[in-house]
Amino acid sequence: MILGQSLATWRAQYPLLDELIALRETSWFNPAVAPAAQALADVGLSAADVADASARLERFAPYLAQVFPETAGGIIESDILALTQMQAELQQRHELSGEIGALWLKRDSHLPISGSIKARGGIYEVLKHAEDLALAAGLLSLDDDYACLDSDEMRAFFAGYQVAVGSTGNLGLSIGIISARLGFKATVHMSADARQWKKDRLRGHGVTVVEYASDYSVAVAEGRRQAEADPRCHFVDDENSTHLFVGYAVAGERLRQQLAAANVTVDAEHPLFVYLPCGVGGGPGGVAFGLKLAFGDAVHCLFAEPTHSPCMLLGVHTGRHDELAVQDFGIDNRTAADGLAVGRPSGFVGRAMQRLIDGYYTVSDEELFRNLALLEQSEGQRLEPSALAGMPGPLRVLGEQQGYRERMGLTPARLARATHLVWATGGSMVPQAEMDGYLARGRQLLGE
Ligand SMILES: *Cc1c(COP(=O)(O)O)cnc(C)c1O
Repeated sequence: MILGQSLATWRAQYPLLDELIALRETSWFNPAVAPAAQALADVGLSAADVADASARLERFAPYLAQVFPETAGGIIESDILALTQMQAELQQRHELSGEIGALWLKRDSHLPISGSIKARGGIYEVLKHAEDLALAAGLLSLDDDYACLDSDEMRAFFAGYQVAVGSTGNLGLSIGIISARLGFKATVHMSADARQWKKDRLRGHGVTVVEYASDYSVAVAEGRRQAEADPRCHFVDDENSTHLFVGYAVAGERLRQQLAAANVTVDAEHPLFVYLPCGVGGGPGGVAFGLKLAFGDAVHCLFAEPTHSPCMLLGVHTGRHDELAVQDFGIDNRTAADGLAVGRPSGFVGRAMQRLIDGYYTVSDEELFRNLALLEQSEGQRLEPSALAGMPGPLRVLGEQQGYRERMGLTPARLARATHLVWATGGSMVPQAEMDGYLARGRQLLGE
């Protein structure tokens, strides 16, 4: 029994479950999607909250510029790249003819400090916590030059506090590195699937890494339990944190400026599709919220998950959100896409964003690796497997037969003027030997 119903009853009620349980690649376009003007109110956060986060990141820029010179002036941001060759490759392989608009990559894989999308929300939340503590203690004021945080006195102050997080790897890297640099005691609770190099790197930064034999949800629950016992410990709650969420959302307005600078028009006649790899949902959810604030109905956000971990699709499609885990349906949550190996979605994100996300689809690990190798061949870009989940997105939109394009007014003429942006969520810090292994697997799957 699953939430009081037999599996047969679930399957009869939701035929899509057959696809998920069989681990077939599938797409689901959300019939409940609503205009941003209505649905943004579901979120419980506003443009003012995102502007507040953006201003906080500006205050911290002098500090980050000093301790992480690899950030451009202390702003943690990535560039966008037109994927002309990759687009030609995909069009040829999938026999797509006609005008399909232009394919772009958002290179969060190359974000400074921790090399993944987690350098947005994760670092933001720790900075916010540090600011709150220092302001309350009278050690900082809002108009100070925050470079003053880079001092022995401030590190000694933060050493009286702890930051903890549960992670499949990348969130732990982001939280651990920034926490340790500020002076906090940092503990990262890592799930079994986390890569060894991420644990090694964290230990090298002086972070305590606690390893679990089980998956992400257990690492989070155990981390949360240990942190609750200590009032001086701040637990970064990947499943529910609104701080993480607004930290991610800052990306929306910044992308609007980047596209404008690249002369890419986004409006009703020039739709923007953004494909976001989804684990627990905070990263893609926060980014999508920021995108909806920045572009309104001109942006169409889709979430991508591994066939073995379709937790957000399951939660939103059934409306049961975090009450369900993929394991309840015998789906094993085993995937090489470590940032996406999450069995139970964030209930907060699933509910907040359920009328703002156009669709959800699943991708096999094999397809992730094929695209990983193709992107390296065609564009010289090296990403980690999770970061390729967005790549099949345009094909799913262009090939869908669920009436989605018609319902949304996405006529062939508009689609010919579309921009398809694949959000590359990680990869620049993957060690060479590991990357060589990924590429070899991808090339083998391509039959080369
Ligand atoms: C964490 C992560 C994601 C997804 O973010 P969630 O907040 O877990 O949904 C996607 N890609 C990579 C590489 C990640 O590390």
